[in-house]
Amino acid sequence: SAEEKLDYVKSKIGEYPNFPKEGILFRDIFGALTDAKACVYLRDLLVEHIRQSVPEAEIIVGLDSRGFLFNLLLATELGVGCAPIRKKGKLPGEVVSVEYELEYSSDTFEIQRNAIAPGQKVVVVDDLLATGGSLAAAAELVRKVGGVVVESLVVLELVGLEGRKRLDGKVHSLIKY
Ligand code: AMP
Repeated sequence: SAEEKLDYVKSKIGEYPNFPKEGILFRDIFGALTDAKACVYLRDLLVEHIRQSVPEAEIIVGLDSRGFLFNLLLATELGVGCAPIRKKGKLPGEVVSVEYELEYSSDTFEIQRNAIAPGQKVVVVDDLLATGGSLAAAAELVRKVGGVVVESLVVLELVGLEGRKRLDGKVHSLIKY
């Protein structure tokens, strides 16, 4: 069942206290991806969710870099395209940029202007939702190039940080901490 698959995946997610710095409990999705069954279950759960909740999705946009583990995977399963949002300076051609705040600094995300067709319905995917700064910036980029974010989708959510409050529209996570 879906619940068994979820429990199995959850049991494989790594936990690293004080990484990458003091006070952060790092939730490591790669810990699950070394397990063959967890890979398939994770795929099944994400694909099934999109089929049920956002069947109108027309393109899957993944965030640099762990979002890339999922955007192509989901796109091939759903029969749609995919696109990357990357850190500044990595994408060729005409790009649109947005600066976003991190805890003690800021960073810049970019998307290729031609990645999304006008009005195209977009699911944005990443491994983990923390403060929501990354997914909020991603949604702004999608809007800037003419797309419509129909859902922000993550595997893991740190509920206490209330990141979903910063996001418009649907937000879905498989596993909540
Ligand atoms: P945020 O923009 O605050 O929602 O942070 C989300 C991004 O930071 C995601 O791309 C995550 O991969 C990464 N991240 C933030 N906090 C953690 C954490 N505790 N464990 C693993 N990754 C994290």
